[in-house]
Amino acid sequence: IPARPVLNRVMLKISGEALMGDQGFGLHPPTVERIAREVQSVQQMGVEVCMVIGGGNIFRGLQGSAQGMERTTADYMGMLATVMNALAMQGALEALGLHTRVISAIPMDQVCEPYIRRRAVRHLEKKRIVIFAAGTGNPYFTTDTAATLRASEMACEAIFKGTKVDGVYDKDPMKHADAKRYEQISYDEVLSKHLKVMDASAIALARENGLPIIVFSLDTPGGFRGILAGEGTYTRVS
Ligand code: UDP
Repeated sequence: IPARPVLNRVMLKISGEALMGDQGFGLHPPTVERIAREVQSVQQMGVEVCMVIGGGNIFRGLQGSAQGMERTTADYMGMLATVMNALAMQGALEALGLHTRVISAIPMDQVCEPYIRRRAVRHLEKKRIVIFAAGTGNPYFTTDTAATLRASEMACEAIFKGTKVDGVYDKDPMKHADAKRYEQISYDEVLSKHLKVMDASAIALARENGLPIIVFSLDTPGGFRGILAGEGTYTRVS
């Protein structure tokens, strides 16, 4: 019997790079499947889950504009990259027998549903996993902001930001043995110390909407489920 979850509806934000495994680029199907299983174990607790996946494993707008491309064009390419990742995740979740919907901020009806807030809420109520694709649909934004926006619109109780480490540290724990993990930290402190949690506009939006950000390790098997069951290490930004 699964432990009683503390929260009822959550947003999981992962970067596109989380899907590339040890490769330097693109999608690594066994990694996508592994993350899908983490999501499945949370969904099985009765928690309603929505997701936003970045596109950095395929294309980043800033990268394109640094190479001379027009920024807005490059950003649209980045948004399209997130649609590819969303479809890959949908495939992996459905292979596990879960019901999912991909909802795009940029309509592409042959591929997925357009974003209609009430419809997305209904999918969540029906325990479908909703993957929000194409970011906010606007250039000059990021998928961190998209995750915060959608989490607010869906009335999620928290954003779970899956990373390579189990929280927010005062310095890079991969480089400094004495790096200290915060148990809890305020939005303002994250902004003033320039800590890499999410970009500044996403943090500000979360602060305005009182949406806690839970930073945890996606590499810890069962970690996502564990936190929802009230255990494990993470940093709470609130
Ligand atoms: N993007 C955008 N508007 C959005 C979300 C994303 O223009 O609302 C573009 C932007 O170019 C970004 C790319 O999509 O670089 C991929 O998203 P992001 O960098 O957030 O992905 P992640 O770093 O999480 O993999």
